[in-house]
Amino acid sequence: MRLAQEVAIVTGASRGIGKAIAKALSAEGAAVVLSGRNEEVNKTAAEICDAGGKAIAFIGDVTKTADCEAIVEKAVKTFGKLDILVNNAGITKDNLLLRMSEEDWDAVINTNLKGTFLCTKAAIKPMMKQRSGKIINITSVIGLMGNAGQANYAASKGGIIAFTKTMAKELGSRNIRVNAIAPGFIETKMTDVLSEEAKTNLLRQIPLGCFGKPEYVADAVVFLASPAASYITGQVLNVDGGMVM
Ligand code: NDP
Repeated sequence: MRLAQEVAIVTGASRGIGKAIAKALSAEGAAVVLSGRNEEVNKTAAEICDAGGKAIAFIGDVTKTADCEAIVEKAVKTFGKLDILVNNAGITKDNLLLRMSEEDWDAVINTNLKGTFLCTKAAIKPMMKQRSGKIINITSVIGLMGNAGQANYAASKGGIIAFTKTMAKELGSRNIRVNAIAPGFIETKMTDVLSEEAKTNLLRQIPLGCFGKPEYVADAVVFLASPAASYITGQVLNVDGGMVM
C-alpha cells in the first residue's frame, strides 16, 4: 500500500489507460476521483468500490474551466485533500495538415493541452496550501518524435512535455513534483482504429516486439506518485517497449 491515505484525481478514467491508472492507484490505497464526459465513468467508479476501494465519478469536460475547478472541489470536499493529479484525458483527430480542419486542430489542443493546463491550475491550489503534491501528465512518444498525420496531437503532446518541465520548475519549492509519461503503442479504443498494416509497421519499431497494455502505463504512474520517486521531477518516462530512445 504505497499510497495509503492519499487522494487522487484521474481525468479520462472511463476506459483504457485512465481506467487502469485509477484501478492501480486504488490498489495501492488511494481514494480516487474519476472524470469523463459520459456516464461510462460511473461504471469504473463502481468497479473500484466493488473491489473494496474508495472511488467517486465526476461527469465533466476537461476543456471547461468550471468542470476542472468542480472536480478538484469535489475531491477535497469528499476526501479532505488532494495529493495526486493524473492528466490523462486525451483524444486524436488525425489528418494530413492540408486536410486538417481548424475544428479538429482546436479540439485536440483544447482537450489534451488546455485540459492539462486547466486541471493543473485548479489542482495546485490545495496542493500548494498543503505543500505537497504529485502531478503526472500523460503525453505520448508522438510528442517526442512527431508523426505524419498527427500535427494537432503531436503539438498537444509536445506542449504537455514543455508544460511539465515548466511546472516542475515553478512548483518544486512547494514540494509538488511534476512528471510526464510517454506511452508508445498501447492497446485501447484509441488505437483500435489503426489498420493491420499500420500495426505491423509499428510492431517493427518496438524492440520488445509487442504492443503495450494500459496496466504498464498504470504501473509507471504508481511509481511516479509513490515515495520511491520522491527525488524525481520534470522528467518524461517512456513506456513504449523501447520504441523511442
Ligand atoms: P481512450 O480513448 O480509450 O480514453 C480516453 C479517455 O479520455 C476516456 O475516458 C474519455 O472519456 C476521456 N476524455 C476524452 N475527452 C475528454 C474530455 N474533454 N474531458 C474529460 N474526459 C475526456 O484513450 P487511451 O486510454 O488510449 O488514452 C489515454 C491517454 O493516453 C490519452 O491522453 C492519450 O493521448 C494517451 N496515449 C495513448 C496511447 C495509446 O497507444 N493508446 C499512446 C500514447 C498516449 P469520455 O469519452 O467519456 O469523455
